[in-house]
Amino acid sequence: MNKLFQSAILFFMALICHGQNTNSATEKEPKTPEETEVYKPVPPKVSIKANGVPSDALVLFDGTDFEHWVSTVDGNAVQWHLNEDGSMTVKNKAGDIKTKQDFGCVQLHLEWSSPASVAGKSQGRANSGVFLQDRYEVQILDNNDNDTYVNGQVGAIYKQSVPLAMASVPSGEWNAYDIIYHQPRFNDKGEKTEPATITVLQNGVLIQDHFKIKGTTEYIGWPKNEAHGKGPIKLQDHRDNSRVSFRNIWLRELH
Ligand code: MG
Repeated sequence: MNKLFQSAILFFMALICHGQNTNSATEKEPKTPEETEVYKPVPPKVSIKANGVPSDALVLFDGTDFEHWVSTVDGNAVQWHLNEDGSMTVKNKAGDIKTKQDFGCVQLHLEWSSPASVAGKSQGRANSGVFLQDRYEVQILDNNDNDTYVNGQVGAIYKQSVPLAMASVPSGEWNAYDIIYHQPRFNDKGEKTEPATITVLQNGVLIQDHFKIKGTTEYIGWPKNEAHGKGPIKLQDHRDNSRVSFRNIWLRELH
């Protein structure tokens, strides 16, 4: 590149940076409040609907049907139970379900409930899970008076991150997960250059705080890091009478 052209670019970049009021050590300390006030871009307006869903959210399940979902077994229609109260329940051994659409970084809300009539123990009591990009599981489990390995308990990033708290409501009541997820980045060679990160609130309690996901959440073995792009949200049928119900699932894509 021609040196004069290079200098011109640097000069204009310096002008742009100066215009953005960056806190460069070489810049003069502002002397008035106006110098550090920013008016643009104005954030988009988001209102909250009567049902609590943000106006710009994509509703993935509102109790009406499985329009946004398919079975992971054969890619066909979901075989889970659709309940009259606006929820769905895992149908034993019908297999996992996933969204038809693929997503990158998201804010995801979902509500889940384990049966009031408990059955099974440890990992066998109302085990399900929500997978980001088809790979990274936030555990769903009935841990009320039911111990298991803590990196596989409710709210764990399965086999990777113990939750910061156990914030479940009593069995039979509805839990809410609010998840902020940023996808991993890979270079042209397929090597991971930035890990995925995840923050999870269970019933308003912080249980995962910007955890750097190590790779796929394996039942056996180490996390894997094969390069990937966008992926679906997946809900698990643990195949041992999971009986977990879901309702009110929506997300906002983050860019
Ligand atoms: Mg699970």
